[in-house]
Amino acid sequence: MGKIAEPSFGIILESVNTQPDRASRRLAQQFALMALPVLLLCAPGCTTLDVVTGKQVMNFYTLEEDSQLGRQVLHRNIEQMRKAGVAINQDPVRLRQLSNIVTRIAAVSHLPDLPYTVTLFHTGIVNAAAAPGGAIMVFEGLFDPQKGLVRDEDELAAVLAHEIAHVNCRHTTERLSALALAGLATELIASCAENEDAETAQALRRVFNIAALLVVPRYSRQDEYEADRVGIFYMARAGYDPRAAVRIWKRVAEKEPGGWGPLSILATHPGAAERARALEKLLPEAMQEYEKAGRRAAVY
Ligand SMILES: [Zn+2]
Repeated sequence: MGKIAEPSFGIILESVNTQPDRASRRLAQQFALMALPVLLLCAPGCTTLDVVTGKQVMNFYTLEEDSQLGRQVLHRNIEQMRKAGVAINQDPVRLRQLSNIVTRIAAVSHLPDLPYTVTLFHTGIVNAAAAPGGAIMVFEGLFDPQKGLVRDEDELAAVLAHEIAHVNCRHTTERLSALALAGLATELIASCAENEDAETAQALRRVFNIAALLVVPRYSRQDEYEADRVGIFYMARAGYDPRAAVRIWKRVAEKEPGGWGPLSILATHPGAAERARALEKLLPEAMQEYEKAGRRAAVY
């Protein structure tokens, strides 16, 4: 696939959540229905291997295009932050720590050869995010002793492993591919309708454009669970204690019943207690991987 359309969203905080869940789900379902005929026609030629699950999935992007898109997204985020007066990458000690963790986790991931980078934004936002191709963004608020999320290096590794898992699962470009397909289907239907009724055709295009805004910037709950599941094994194989992943979400659940609240990382995620429970079930297996890898993480 040649040219990549830059996504219409700016800062890709995992927290962007401006619309009710039910509405966006309903629209996504409508698009899935609309996209079905096109999907059936082109699916055999458009699928690619998901290296994490070993299954065939719909993704029109190559890995090189993932990285290219990630660089654009990162660049745009840096520009926006600079305009807002946020300093970037000005803490060499923290940067070295982040970059060491990312290097270790990336090395045991399914796509170790992607051009992983870390960018540190000096702002109180409590978040971390990843653009396709491995551009990881960390926001200083994550380390705030009161309002932040991480207390030690294992917990930081848990957050970064989750982000690296999103990159390996290629959640963003899978979403963009589904959206492109739905756009194509909408256009086909709208073109057919145009002869009969121009107003209906316009209405269809309008609905698509609105839904595109709702669906694109957000990972689904399924994506989040997958990133948690994949991430806990990545961190364990890299020598970080996987119990830290459970600890984070338990702590958050105590602070914020249901996992919603001022910690912005949570806003589009499943409830914290639910996540802690799901991760806890994986702990025995993850601990075996951790023991095999041998503990290498230092407490800071
Ligand atoms: Zn996530």
